Amino acid sequence: MKIIVAEHSGFCFGVNRAVDTAEELVRDLNGKTIYSLGPLIHNSQAVKSLENKGLKPIENIEELLKGEKLIIRSHGVSPSIEEKVQELNVELVDTTCPYVKAVHKRVRNYKNKDYKIVIIGDREHPEVIGINGHCDNEGIVINTLEEATNLPKYDKICVVSQTTNTWEKFDAISKILLEKANEVEIFNTICNATSLRQNSAMELAKQVDAMVVIGGYHSSNTNKLVEVSKKYCKNVYHIEKKEELPLQELSNFNTIGITAGASTPDWIIKEVINTMDNINNGNEIMEAIENSMVRIHRGDILKGKVIYVTDNEVMVNINYKSDGIIIKEELSNDPDIMPKDLFNEGDEIEVYVVRIDDGEGNVMLSTKRVEAIKNWDTLAEMYEKQEEVECKVLKDIKGGLSVSVMGITGFMPASQISVEYIEDLSIYKGRVLESKIIDFDQDKRRIILSSRIVEEELLEKKRNEIWDSLEIGEIIKGRVARLTDFGAFVDLGGLDGLIHISDLSWFRINHPSEVVEVDEDVEVEVLDFNKAKNRISLGLKQTLPKPWDIFIEKRSIGDIVSGKIVNMLDFGAFVRLEEGVDGLVHVSQISKEHVNKPSDVLEMGEEVQVKIIDINEEEKRISLSMRELEEDIEETIENEELEVSIGDIVKDN
Ligand code: SF4
Repeated sequence: MKIIVAEHSGFCFGVNRAVDTAEELVRDLNGKTIYSLGPLIHNSQAVKSLENKGLKPIENIEELLKGEKLIIRSHGVSPSIEEKVQELNVELVDTTCPYVKAVHKRVRNYKNKDYKIVIIGDREHPEVIGINGHCDNEGIVINTLEEATNLPKYDKICVVSQTTNTWEKFDAISKILLEKANEVEIFNTICNATSLRQNSAMELAKQVDAMVVIGGYHSSNTNKLVEVSKKYCKNVYHIEKKEELPLQELSNFNTIGITAGASTPDWIIKEVINTMDNINNGNEIMEAIENSMVRIHRGDILKGKVIYVTDNEVMVNINYKSDGIIIKEELSNDPDIMPKDLFNEGDEIEVYVVRIDDGEGNVMLSTKRVEAIKNWDTLAEMYEKQEEVECKVLKDIKGGLSVSVMGITGFMPASQISVEYIEDLSIYKGRVLESKIIDFDQDKRRIILSSRIVEEELLEKKRNEIWDSLEIGEIIKGRVARLTDFGAFVDLGGLDGLIHISDLSWFRINHPSEVVEVDEDVEVEVLDFNKAKNRISLGLKQTLPKPWDIFIEKRSIGDIVSGKIVNMLDFGAFVRLEEGVDGLVHVSQISKEHVNKPSDVLEMGEEVQVKIIDINEEEKRISLSMRELEEDIEETIENEELEVSIGDIVKDN
């Protein structure tokens, strides 16, 4: 006889969680009693076993006294029960299955949006009673096609299912309900564990001569497994415990399938199989059990399907007897990222097995470690090729920054952050930096990065571009970087050029600060450059009009102008007419009287008035005369006197 165990059978995630919680609580009771509202699970053997340890099922919460402890089982309860428990000052341990909680939330939402809630399920079942409580007990419970057909028409209905329904029943009733309102929202809330167990039972029932379904007679999901099995197999036996096995009958079959409800503990399944050992080879059967389960080990990378996503965790079906949980911290190295930002229900993902049992029967998984394993290889290659990689700054730590690079934590020393000195490293938190890996050791899990290198390379590139674009005589833009006694350094975008003090102004200056200041934007002329010597000569005055040009623009021959004697030689005196513009008064042009040499009649620094008698633009020379000015004045006076005399004569006559 061949025995095959269904791929998915026995404890589901929700029941496992409730039983583990209860086991943990009874461990420390020291003779006291705790309570569950109704039997913790629909399996009398398991309930009896827990009762012996101190967990007593009660039917009415009024039986409880202040300070006592009550476990809410995986079916969940209505809000009114929770309120009553609070009033009684009873400590509540809530093991409501997250799948059921999701249904509570959904019906509450839609009730608030004025939908009539329709629950497909058994109206006596505690889960259905609890769900109805979450829509103020105003939901309609439907369990047959006839009930669905007789339903009156509503404006808007929202349809949910008891989590342990069969898909066929849910589908058939939903189709009728589609006609029962103007707006119909249908949600398949049959839980994943139920679907998996029913599908496994169905597949198995198709290929065996007999099916043994193990589970409580009041267990809804076990009864559904019986229902599904009967559709595909003529010989189905529903038992609660090994003693009920019809060994005689079973010995007539060649192939027997075994499945178990979600509330059937492993030890009961094993007892049943051990008993069947009497009619077959026990080792083969145990092997069958083992083979039916996916084996997992710490460090494995598995494929899984996201069952649901909350703000703190992601539940994943990994085809193991327990589902897996990825806590937020194991999703990504980015502490700001939320589970819902990364995954949606139904996503196929790869997970890393962190721990097979987190103490509550769940498998602890990680996605960040899967990525990390793959990313180590990528980073090793990038290190070898010295490629740039983006890293996000997590926080500043002693001596530098803690960064996340492809989900792996690395370190960036303070000296490698920037070409500039950074006083306060905390300003980098959250920034993404282009960087290169400068030290890499996968065994020691060490990655050291530098964004300074990238900055330097960028600057070098810019510098080369500037060198390549320089042309003598070209006018370019820059910013004054610093001043010295001999000139001003100008930043041309990563490369500095110098304006010598003599090229800052057409006038004589004592210090560059008389003309420019640090951080001032300037336009300068490229006077010369030498890449090998890393030298660029710039001129500012060359971009400004020359004093000579300005002077001759506004003055012409014959104009009388003032100036200061700035130099005297034997042949004449030089007069400064404007800053940068000097003219010459030849010795013969100083006075009508004979002058031997200028210093006989003039003094250095003396202010004089002169007449422009010639401008030689080509040689940039201005000839001045004090003598002509003197003669002009005399002539004017004479003319004025003459006019006065003639006037007097005319008047006298
Ligand atoms: S059958 Fe589904 S909904 Fe019910 S407790 Fe198990 S996992 Fe939760």
